[in-house]
This record gives sequence, C-alpha cells and structure tokens, in this order.
Amino acid sequence: HLVIEDVTKDFGSQAVLKGVNLSVARGGTTAIVGPSGSGKTTLLRLIAGFEHPGTGSILLNGSPVAGDGVWKPAHKRHVGYVAQDGALFPHLTVGQNIAFGLSASKLDGGRRAVAAKVAELLEMVSLDTAMAKRRPHQLSGGQQQRVALARALAREPELMLLDEPFSALDAGLRVATRRAVAKVLNEAGVTTILVTHDQAEALSFADQVAVMRGGKLAQIGNPFVVYTRPADRATAEFLGDAV
Ligand code: ATP
Repeated sequence: HLVIEDVTKDFGSQAVLKGVNLSVARGGTTAIVGPSGSGKTTLLRLIAGFEHPGTGSILLNGSPVAGDGVWKPAHKRHVGYVAQDGALFPHLTVGQNIAFGLSASKLDGGRRAVAAKVAELLEMVSLDTAMAKRRPHQLSGGQQQRVALARALAREPELMLLDEPFSALDAGLRVATRRAVAKVLNEAGVTTILVTHDQAEALSFADQVAVMRGGKLAQIGNPFVVYTRPADRATAEFLGDAV
C-alpha cells in the first residue's frame, strides 16, 4: 500500500511537482498518464528513493519512507524500478545483470541455483535462456527492456515502478510482454505504478488511472470513467490526443 501526501518537488526555480496526493492499494495497479514534462518520471523517482521530496511525505505499507524528517534510502524500500531506457550495466552479461537484482540469500544458493533463477526470470519476460551469456549491446532495444524488467522482478519487490517499459517493443511483443508481466505481478500481489502513453495498456493493466498535468494530478479514477468522462476540457483534449 502506497500513500503520497501533498508531495512537491522543485528543480532550481522550476516547480515540477506542485502537491501530489495519490493512494495505491496493496496489489493494485495505477497507470499514470499525462503530457511530456508533466512530472511523471519525477514522481516515480521520488517513490523509488532517487530524489528527496521538497515537502510532503511518502508512506509504504503504513511506514513513512520520505518526508517529515524521515529518509529511507532506495535499496531499503523493496521497490523495483524500470527506467524508460532500461539502464542495464553494459560491462555485465545479461545473466549477471539479472543476478544483480537477486537478494543475498538467493545468491548464497550457489551458481546453479542462481543460473536456474536467472533462467526462470528470462522465461517470465519471454526471452531465450541462452541470452544470459550475451552482453546488453548484443540485444535489441526491446530485448534490453525485457532484461531490465527481469532484473527488477528478481528483487521480488513489494512495489514495482514501470516507466513506459513496453514502449520500445513492437505491437505484438508489447501485448505478450505486458500480459506476462501483469500475470507475474498479479500472482505475486505486487503493487504497481505504470507510466504509459498507451491507452490500451492503461485500460488493460490498471485498476486506477491518474492523469498528471503541470505537476498535479488532474483526475484519478477507474480507467473506464477517466477515459469516458474526463474531468475537464484539458484532460479530454490530452486523452483524445493519446489515442
Ligand atoms: P516525459 O513523458 O517526457 O518522460 P515526464 O512527465 O516524465 O515527461 P519529468 O521527466 O518528470 O516529466 O520532468 C518534469 C520536468 O522536470 C521537466 O521540465 C524536466 O526538465 C524537469 N526535470 C526533471 N528532472 C530534472 C533534474 N534532475 N534537474 C532539473 N530539472 C529536471
């Protein structure tokens, strides 16, 4: 369960988040949509613990992780984060990239156990297990993106943050990967926030859609309601553009 209370963030003189309130139920999936530059990635980075909020607070499963004098660093938050560009370690193999996400207890299981876990994660994101030996530059953009997803899943996060994770994939693969990832996250009961420009993705993946505009959430609600009854003209125009 994630609660964001009145969070603001400035970069220099620019107010990027202007008081964001959002609640995502445990196991729920929220899609954040909104124009470029509206603050979507910044919000995810604050939740992940890569940035400090200006004011306001963030609570994970009832405990504050940021704000009001509290600060829990990213590696202690049990949060998985997949950036827009995947951001794999270029000098490590695919298998090593994924194993990097495994907890110390899993790594203690020995090489065979780690290889088996890596293979399981590769299958989860529909990649050939032989890919484990390759380096990121030997993979297509879409394949790299799926490795980044596997690495984030390896952490067995309580909360998964996905910043347009399927955008580099072609249409067929996007649907297949989205279904596979949704299934994994659902079965594990992982709370998920997905930033997307894809209306079909928001409708099929999320039980709540939040529309971000100018550093604020202009509307939050059931996907069907948001898309059929936008709160105001600007939201209607943006959603119209997004399809
Ligand atoms: P997009 O859909 O294009 O990814 P977004 O909604 O995710 O956009 P953000 O990436 O959160 O938007 O950026 C919001 C604003 O904050 C932009 O104007 C951006 O230039 C600014 N910004 C983001 N990160 C920084 C930073 N580290 N330093 C200065 N400005 C930043």
